[in-house]
Formats: sequence, C-alpha cells, structure tokens
Amino acid sequence: MIGDRAGLAFAGGGLDRAAEARGDADWQAGAAMVPVWRGKVCLDADGALVRLGAGHPALADTGEAGPVLLGRDGGQAVAACDISAWAPPNLPETKLFFDPSEQVHPAIPGAGFVELRGAMMRLSPLDAELAATARALTGWHATHRFCPACGHETQAAQSGWQRRCPGCGRTHFPRTDPVVIMLVTRGDRVLLGRSPGWPEGMYSCLAGFIEPGETLEAAVRREVAEETGIRIGAVRYAGSQPWPFPASLMIGLVAEAESEAITLDPVELEDALWLSRADLAAVMAGTHPVLRAPRRGAIAGWLMRGWLDG
Ligand SMILES: [Zn+2]
Repeated sequence: MIGDRAGLAFAGGGLDRAAEARGDADWQAGAAMVPVWRGKVCLDADGALVRLGAGHPALADTGEAGPVLLGRDGGQAVAACDISAWAPPNLPETKLFFDPSEQVHPAIPGAGFVELRGAMMRLSPLDAELAATARALTGWHATHRFCPACGHETQAAQSGWQRRCPGCGRTHFPRTDPVVIMLVTRGDRVLLGRSPGWPEGMYSCLAGFIEPGETLEAAVRREVAEETGIRIGAVRYAGSQPWPFPASLMIGLVAEAESEAITLDPVELEDALWLSRADLAAVMAGTHPVLRAPRRGAIAGWLMRGWLDG
C-alpha cells in the first residue's frame, strides 16, 4: 500500500515551489494568477484550475497579502490571489457540512468557484497541489493578520510565505497542523466511527489532532482510547495527505487493536462499529444498506481500500 498514491488527492503533484524566488517580486511579471474566493477555487468547464493574467479585472479585489507565489509550472510562476472581498449577488446562506453552491464571477465567464472537497478528484495532480496550497495559504493570511506575541497588525513578506510584525520584529510562518487518521484493525475487521452532525450513513476512520509533546503512535493510542475505549498495540505508518480545511496534514496509519469492547465518548463520536471485510467491501462499492462510501480522494477511503486490497 505504501507508495501507491492513486486515489489520494493533493498528494504527488510534484509542484516546483520555487522557494528561492520568494525574496523578490520579479516573478510577478508574466505570472499566472489563481483566484481564491472565501476558500473556494475557480474551475473552468473542463475541471481545470482557472489561471488569470496579472492584470485581469477579477484580481482588483486581491487582499492585503497580495499574490502568494505557489511555484512554477513549466517555467511560469503561478500565484494565488485571495479575492474574497468580491461580493456576489444572491449569495446563499449555507451552514451545510458541504456547500454545493457555485459562484460565477462576471469577469470570469464559463468558470465557477466551488468547494475544493467536491472538486479535488477532477483536478490534475499538479492543479490539485496548487489548489490545496492556494487554499491553505490564503486561509492562513485571512486568519493571522495580528501578531500572536504582541497583537500588532502584521504584514505579508517573502511572496506570502511569511508575516512580519513591525511591533516586535517577530516573523510568523504558515501553519500546518498534523492529524493522525487511523484504520484500526482486529483480525479480519476494521473499526469505523461517525461524529455528531455528519451526513446520514457517513462513517470513517478515527482521527484527531496530535498534541504538543506527542509522538504519532502516542496520539493514535490516546485518540482511539478516548473515543472508543479500545486499546491499541502496533501502529504502522501508511501515507500522508495535505488537507487544507483549513490547514491539516493527515498522517495515515494502520493500528492493531488489542481489545474489542467499544465505550463511546458521546462528545466525540455518535457511533462506532466493527465492520467485516465483506461489509467494508460493500461500503466501498456503494452497496451497503446503511453506510455510505467514503469521499473519493480522501485518505480515509484510501486506507480502507489499501486494507481491502491487502
Ligand atoms: Zn508582534
């Protein structure tokens, strides 16, 4: 299973991140600009990430961080521009788990802003990596405008890869928050759970943020014990996935259970259950009577598929 990235979104785009170019703005001449709006990415009718010329009218709403250099594609610089200040008419009030609405900017006809989670498997691997990086960085700028040390307003630097504080001189870097996501196995069965508020029939691998001072293995054992009371033995790394919702790195592991009785933490989990290999195969095929298939492209389904395939 390790090394096979098929079916895993955002992994393996091979983007040249052009870190050496971040110190100056020379790259902006002739760069392709990827617009991001309130966390959504803009896709054309063919499912490709929309790239605009530097002077495009839709970029007039680019926020204070300016264009953020994502990297180079075939020698051309590619940057993200956060145009969240644009206010489309008739915006739906949505508090859904997944926002299915699409917004069309009048200056970008034939394309729409969509939730990346729904579009990630339509994108090429490179576009997916560009989109994930664009969403993560524009989201970081939007939520880290003030210095956590002294409260002063900070300024974007290094082509959007830093924020500097003129008040205390500190430099702040984009965050990536590591999460363990584990397929818990016991012989020929796997453990899946569902959180309160998830869509009906949705079950997935257990997951949780790694706490300061914790190893991957300790985080797996603590999370599984807290949520289900199950004791974990051996833990094995399987693969990882950037998950910019808003800033996670999902670290996929396979964990062997040493006990079976489930004691739910009702705050974290609404339900948890052991599934046989045949049941999991039915879930993945979309034929299970209760559980729905996991979202394509996400690491949970990738872990399940890898286990089914041996
Ligand atoms: Zn400061």
